[in-house]
Amino acid sequence: MAKFEYAPAPESRAIVSLRESYGLFINGEFTPGVDGHAFKTISPATEEVLAEVTEAGPADVDRAVSAARKAYEHTWSALPGRERAKYLFRIARIVQERARELAVLESLDNGKPIRESRDVDIPLVAAHFFYYAGWADKLEYAGYGPAPRPLGVAGQVIPWNFPLLMLAWKIAPALACGNTAVLKPAETTPLTALAFAEICQQADLPPGVVNILTGAGETGRALVEHPAIDKVAFTGSTEVGRQIARACAPTRKKVTLELGGKAANVVFEDAPVDQAVEGIVNGIFFNQGHVCCAGSRLLVQESVYSEVLTSLRRRLATLRLGDPLDKNTDVGAINSAAQLAKIRELSDVGEAEGAERWSPPCELPVKGFWFPPTIFTGVSQAHRIAREEIFGPVLSVLTFRTPAEAVEKANNTPYGLSAGVWTEKGSLILWMASRLRAGVVWANTFNKFDPTSPFGGYKESGYGREGGRHGLEAYLNV
Ligand code: NAD
Repeated sequence: MAKFEYAPAPESRAIVSLRESYGLFINGEFTPGVDGHAFKTISPATEEVLAEVTEAGPADVDRAVSAARKAYEHTWSALPGRERAKYLFRIARIVQERARELAVLESLDNGKPIRESRDVDIPLVAAHFFYYAGWADKLEYAGYGPAPRPLGVAGQVIPWNFPLLMLAWKIAPALACGNTAVLKPAETTPLTALAFAEICQQADLPPGVVNILTGAGETGRALVEHPAIDKVAFTGSTEVGRQIARACAPTRKKVTLELGGKAANVVFEDAPVDQAVEGIVNGIFFNQGHVCCAGSRLLVQESVYSEVLTSLRRRLATLRLGDPLDKNTDVGAINSAAQLAKIRELSDVGEAEGAERWSPPCELPVKGFWFPPTIFTGVSQAHRIAREEIFGPVLSVLTFRTPAEAVEKANNTPYGLSAGVWTEKGSLILWMASRLRAGVVWANTFNKFDPTSPFGGYKESGYGREGGRHGLEAYLNV
């Protein structure tokens, strides 16, 4: 089936005004780094330099933590919940007012399609702030005792796949509970966090309540290992999560870790095939597969295998890959050269181990980092592409015959972040959900996020929950 030809429909980037260089956001102000140096952030779609940002060194981390401590003790923790809520509501409204600008900035720096940053990321950011603003004056009714107390200063480190959304997942509950925060965005996507710093200024948030330190792994390490923070919240790879858990084990710090995943998306023979195919595509090609809970292992019941595969291939041929700012684009750029190298390496291993690789005919832009939507069939449980997180637009397809076999295969992973079930039988959904070892089980849908719903992992996918009432616990002394 041929694709319709559409004229390019790029979103204007004129709405974004970028500074040439950015300092660190400490104590309510942008300040130059004391012991860091500058590095560049680029657009992964074009490799164009977007801005220069500062890599915070240990002395900068120290300054930010002191500012957060002072703000915690003298201002924020003393404010009644209803007053903290006003700031959070204000931030949520400013995010809505600046939504278009934030969406364009996110797509520029991350490479994700504007359709996603505009319709998913940024609306969810505002929703998270609205949701936790609502909790700020009701914490005594949250089920954590009559007078729950905040923890103090939170050191927060986030990845590059949903830059502003991960920031919202961290900062909104921390502030609602009365903590102050020092947050480090990922080195490849610092720009929306810096725009958020401006939003804090615009909302008149008291200085020091939110501090943003740009930098790479060493800055993150200095932050989570800083002796004067009370709480560590990390989202990223399982490998770094392990290092952080080790570093924090001998301390009194409370830790939550949101790590990797290798989710099974299980399609039974009675599932509506067209709907399931949309769910499979959304499960693994949304955000170029840079999703911790991506449905990267498709488990199809043998009786419908060829029907599902034929429909899936037909559907993949209609995906548009290209300019992230074009409103017609479905698949954007891979976030970095390093991530592209990792996806290529694991895909080559998949072929070398005997799986069969397929991609629709698809022209890749010359500049930037790109990888076509890819399916591997003939995958066995032992293959690395079935076991390791690829974090890219690559789907491994396996089959099963009985529900028990589906559960066995789905759970055969060190991870446990999410899973999907496609069937028209409610009883089978419940039967599966009670057996799948995953923090989230989606039924007849995939990658659905809501601030009221808790999210988090089993096994090597981490511990602690973010979102919903459960997400408050991570920031309260309970
Ligand atoms: P990463 O672990 O390399 O980096 C994540 C963040 O940690 C970055 O800000 C990085 O600078 C920082 N960092 C690196 N080394 C550090 C150290 N030693 N100490 C402290 N901070 C350090 O991960 P990534 O490649 O940026 O992100 C992809 C990973 O994140 C995937 O494995 C994905 O599954 C996971 N992820 C998980 C969730 C979730 O909610 N479970 C959500 C998004 C991404």
